[in-house]
Amino acid sequence: MIIAIDGPAGSGKSTVAKLVARELGFGYLDTGAMYRAVAQRAIEDKIDLSEPLSEASQAAIRYIAKTETIEFGFTDGEPLPSVVMISNKDVTKQIRTPEVDKAVSPVSADPGVREALTEQQRVIGYSRDTVMEGRDIGTVVFPDADCKVFLTASAEERARRRSLQNAAKVGRDSVTEEEYAAVLADIQRRDAYDSSREHAPLAAAADAWELDSTDMSIEDVVGAIVERVKQKQQA
Ligand code: C5P
Repeated sequence: MIIAIDGPAGSGKSTVAKLVARELGFGYLDTGAMYRAVAQRAIEDKIDLSEPLSEASQAAIRYIAKTETIEFGFTDGEPLPSVVMISNKDVTKQIRTPEVDKAVSPVSADPGVREALTEQQRVIGYSRDTVMEGRDIGTVVFPDADCKVFLTASAEERARRRSLQNAAKVGRDSVTEEEYAAVLADIQRRDAYDSSREHAPLAAAADAWELDSTDMSIEDVVGAIVERVKQKQQA
């Protein structure tokens, strides 16, 4: 069984998808982390990502996506994978930097990169029951997914959540106005980019269940999805 959870940056997809997977005993796949890992390798290789991408840059990022193995590992005591590796190198922390936030847009807009990563995602999904999160799972990767959720929230709420998450990573529980504004600007930029790109743009599948989480707690969102999946399992 595949549960597809798509939605824009900061909509709470990762938190929700992980909790749903844990509750149902399913595998979990963060497809955004795969695009980020390729972007990280492109930065490391000093590939010019200014747009429009040159033919040489296109060929180089496609080569990375086709030939380098992306794997997910476990941290001790955690039930779901949280470590991201590309060609055996742990890039878990590097892929969450503002530099990668920026580089991932042109990388993920490339059809050759998408084709290679979509193939890997299908192989993983066919191997076991999986909760898969991304932008195009319900539309392109698994259009026949058993349950499709499109998770949204207002851009302001998403920026509030994401900036607090970033602060928590360095042990703080509040954010400055500048930090919030920078996160909001990045979210709005990525929303516009992901929604308007030619290949596999961010969009709800026609048969997706659209959930606006602006005024919902994480527990309520997870509970609603788990209940719907259980109904499908019994049907
Ligand atoms: O989910 P996350 O914000 O980590 O994804 C990073 C970027 O990867 C997104 O901004 C989007 O451009 C791209 N992405 C994608 N298709 C997916 C998942 C992510 O294009 N299935």
